[in-house]
Amino acid sequence: MSHYHIDTNCIHAGYEPGNGEPRVLPIVQSTTFKYDSAEMLGELFDLKADGFFYTRLGNPTIDAVEKKIAALEGGVGALLTSSGQAASMISVLNICPAGGHVVCSSAIYGGTFNLFYKTMREMGLEFTFLPADCTAEELNAAFQPNTRCVFAETLTNPSLVVTDLELYAKTAHAHGVPLIVDNTFPTPVNCRPFTFGADIVTHSTTKYMDGHAVQVGGVIVDSGNFNWENGKFPGLTEPDESYHGIVYTKQFGKAAYIVKARTHLMRDLGAQSSPNNAFLLNLGLETLAVRMERHCSNALAVAKHLEQNDKIAWVNYPGLESSKYYGLAKKYMPNGTCGVISFGVKGGREAAAGFMEGLKLASIVIHVADLRTCVLHPASTTHRQLNDEQLKEAGIGADMIRMSVGIENIEDILEDIDQSLKNL
Ligand SMILES: *Cc1c(COP(=O)(O)O)cnc(C)c1O
Repeated sequence: MSHYHIDTNCIHAGYEPGNGEPRVLPIVQSTTFKYDSAEMLGELFDLKADGFFYTRLGNPTIDAVEKKIAALEGGVGALLTSSGQAASMISVLNICPAGGHVVCSSAIYGGTFNLFYKTMREMGLEFTFLPADCTAEELNAAFQPNTRCVFAETLTNPSLVVTDLELYAKTAHAHGVPLIVDNTFPTPVNCRPFTFGADIVTHSTTKYMDGHAVQVGGVIVDSGNFNWENGKFPGLTEPDESYHGIVYTKQFGKAAYIVKARTHLMRDLGAQSSPNNAFLLNLGLETLAVRMERHCSNALAVAKHLEQNDKIAWVNYPGLESSKYYGLAKKYMPNGTCGVISFGVKGGREAAAGFMEGLKLASIVIHVADLRTCVLHPASTTHRQLNDEQLKEAGIGADMIRMSVGIENIEDILEDIDQSLKNL
């Protein structure tokens, strides 16, 4: 499949039906799989043979979607998870157990920040958070002898910072550790982090990959490029007693990381996808390339339109030439970034609320990145516990509106915005 373009792979990669088999990826709604001998099943358990035996560890529907996403990112393998949160946690824990340290961009999704800052710290990991656009010197200075990975988002939610992937990858590699990036917002259609040196990619598939807001899910993709045999990753290079002493790098080569994530952490934590959710995700993936194109063209049109309106205080979208991240966006996401923009309405909190309530087509929801235009006022919802001073520190103005521009007709979206602004 790999010689096809990404929009073709969105449709076809991962599933090739044989003669007389279903044309559409079927839902294999079965927890378990039948074998003729106990010995065969034993071989599967010992990872000596390849095959499905229990859906926590693998399932034909889930497997096809994993293969599709691996093809889209250009990786050697992928692991679907029950949510983006589970993907973030497993991607780090797989190579950084208690006692390890992570260098992390502070401009990350709030849920990821909580996971790292609270839960994973309680589990015994250490984190150093840095501004996403820190200098090479600042980044270098954050490393410790026990650092085991660097974590960042390619395009941050909600602040829309474009991370300098080559700088992050080069610095991580100089310290002998991999770069893990969350590529949820641009998706592989708009950004291929492996081509810029990232080693592991994660996603919340809940967002654009699904695109219809019908399932919560996540995925981890392994580039197969990182050399784990530098003494820092004994979990991959020393015998795993829970599998009769297998050594992942010896037995699985380039796929060592992603095999371990499945056979060790998914086995133990059980944060797997379901066949039904994988099926729904696959339907979304089939149209991902065309949807992203439309999300981006609509978002750029909305951003430009808002910049012209004197009731708007500021507009933040990396596709705008006025954006601080325009250059990095052109380099890492030349075909477009995503459909999310943020802006401020003159008149602060009250004006923002008035504008949102006046919208007729766009709805107010705690979600982004599906095909319906929606808005959120972080100051009165996701960050509601903060006062105006604290909001300022978090980079969230009381006037800030996050708009996830959908794929409706652009004239209808603009008309909706204009009628609400007019009534302010
Ligand atoms: C939503 C989101 C997550 C968390 O994903 P869930 O599927 O909600 O668990 C992680 N990273 C980013 C960038 C997100 O937008």
